[in-house]
Amino acid sequence: MSLLHLSNVAAFYGPSQALFDVSLDLEEGEVLALMGRNGMGKTTTIKVIFRLLKHRSGRVMFDGRDLDPLPSHRAARLGLGLVPEGRRCFANLTVRENLMAAARPGPWDIARVHRFFPRLGERTAQNAASLSGGEQQMLAIGRALMTNPRVLVLDEATEGLAPVVRQEIWAAIARLKSETGLSLIVVDKSLRELSGVADRAVILEKGRSVWSGGFAGLTPEVRDRYLGV
Ligand code: ATP
Repeated sequence: MSLLHLSNVAAFYGPSQALFDVSLDLEEGEVLALMGRNGMGKTTTIKVIFRLLKHRSGRVMFDGRDLDPLPSHRAARLGLGLVPEGRRCFANLTVRENLMAAARPGPWDIARVHRFFPRLGERTAQNAASLSGGEQQMLAIGRALMTNPRVLVLDEATEGLAPVVRQEIWAAIARLKSETGLSLIVVDKSLRELSGVADRAVILEKGRSVWSGGFAGLTPEVRDRYLGV
């Protein structure tokens, strides 16, 4: 059984159906790219994984457990870490306070986060609001690492950042892959960068997982059909 397993998931916002049939598997130590054009259901799928939205049918399993009845804080305790779209750090808390608020026992502590992102160490006493966009993104990743997750999900982690800062975030994702055994799900618009770091991709189209496979299989036809604008 995969570490994380979704099969035939359907989910609604009130009366409106956002997911119709989403299936995906994440293996231990794997980096999975979750792709698809705007509004196809990537963030909604992540919300379902984190129990921020309950699915109406289908199955969500993490580490052999059915996540259906779990409240979201329990899902986090089980080892699911989220770097949400828009980063959402606590603006009026310091870098250190943001990190410590998330701390759970495990190999990642504040010293290790500072080694991983030295800039966070240099800014430990600053309010999160005073950080640059890239630094806030590092803080959002650092905060998720402080929960010592087994699966880390990054939703649009490079969005709205300058190109040089984006490269720093991609480099950090690559280091997470090579230096830790963390399983990752990465949502991003950059196919080129994703193909450099991810082992496999799943493509969503109108609330359905319509394609999955290795990047070698992402032919121009597949890209035009599901990812083109
Ligand atoms: P993007 O790349 O734009 O973030 P996405 O693939 O993450 O897109 P979702 O945000 O999951 O897509 O949206 C899937 C569908 O659900 C869209 O039709 C969207 O309009 C709808 N939707 C998303 N959030 C809500 C909400 N809070 N209430 C109602 N409908 C929503």
